[in-house]
Amino acid sequence: MSGAAGTAVVAGGAGFLGSHLCERLLADGWHVVCVDNFVTGSPENIAHLTGAEGFRLIEADVSAGPLRIEGPVTAVLNLASPASPVDYLELPLETLRVGSEGTRHLLDLAREKEARFILASTSETYGDPLVHPQPETYWGNVNPVGPRSVYDEAKRYAEAITMAYRRTHGVDTGIIRIFNTFGPRMRAHDGRAVPTFIRQALAHEPITVAGDGSQTRSLCYVSDLIEGIVRMTGSTVEGPVNLGNQEEVTILALAERIRELTASPAGIVQVARPVDDPSVRCPDTAKAYECLGWRAEFATERGLIETIDWFRARQSAGTLAEAA
Ligand code: NAD
Ligand code: UDP
Repeated sequence: MSGAAGTAVVAGGAGFLGSHLCERLLADGWHVVCVDNFVTGSPENIAHLTGAEGFRLIEADVSAGPLRIEGPVTAVLNLASPASPVDYLELPLETLRVGSEGTRHLLDLAREKEARFILASTSETYGDPLVHPQPETYWGNVNPVGPRSVYDEAKRYAEAITMAYRRTHGVDTGIIRIFNTFGPRMRAHDGRAVPTFIRQALAHEPITVAGDGSQTRSLCYVSDLIEGIVRMTGSTVEGPVNLGNQEEVTILALAERIRELTASPAGIVQVARPVDDPSVRCPDTAKAYECLGWRAEFATERGLIETIDWFRARQSAGTLAEAA
């Protein structure tokens, strides 16, 4: 994906993943239209891109109505949605709306422009999985009326409408199911485990582990994930395709490792497990390798060191609190 690649519309482009994606697409020669309403993202994430040749920001809520973009568009990438459990539990209706109406508006744009459409779906579509690791053929174990359902079911609906536009209108769609991804630009207070643990450790505060910490996650470093999205965009693969790291860790082990890497003198405290918190999560990435030649290369530990360095630099600059 290099050279004059065309114009990509990145919805949610001012978020954690979106801002890295905008940066990568620009470096690959794309023109990028970033669409965001800053509900969980921030102008600071894309400040370094503003004014760059080929970059344009449209401040808009993609749920509100159809998007009007002048000129040809080659790819529409839908990353717009609150993604942290703390965020989507605070924004339940907005989350349902952006997964449903927002996705429909972006599909309409892709249809109008005859563009490739990529849906950033999630491992949450598997819910609290009964099959482990999770292959794409697993249909999941989601509580449709629990608090997390606003995110899980919105993304499941987003997948369904994406497939319906493909079948009904012939839109060139691709669905990726992203597993827990971390790295620089996560908000220190977004509530997700990695930024929370790093923030707490750097402040010499106890690390809050939910329950006994035996639940697992598989943590993918952001640069790996972006490479997977770029490959998916440049392909005609329909998906869904899992994108994630296959290295599985318990949350307690993650907390302990972050404590060691930051040399934090503070300990670990137990807090309540969120309702319907999945007990295990690990992607089967055979399909990603087969279809895209992709697999995560960055060891979780290496990613943690990079992320801690980034948070540390912000702490030294006195800007960590701004990431709240
Ligand atoms: P994020 O909250 O940092 O980014 C989401 C972005 O979408 C923000 O900039 C937000 O302001 C924007 N947004 C939300 N609603 C919008 C709306 N109605 N109109 C316009 N913009 C809107 O989260 P992230 O971690 O970067 O996640 C990006 C995408 O990837 C999300 O769709 C998420 O579901 C998916 N995903 C992320 C992960 C992960 O581990 N980071 C895992 C699975 C799926
Ligand atoms: N978690 C935790 N302490 C925190 C934040 C999260 O123990 O301060 C746990 C959470 O309960 C879950 C895991 O870490 O079991 C991953 O949570 P995160 O919010 O990062 O992602 P998700 O639940 O979406 O996988």
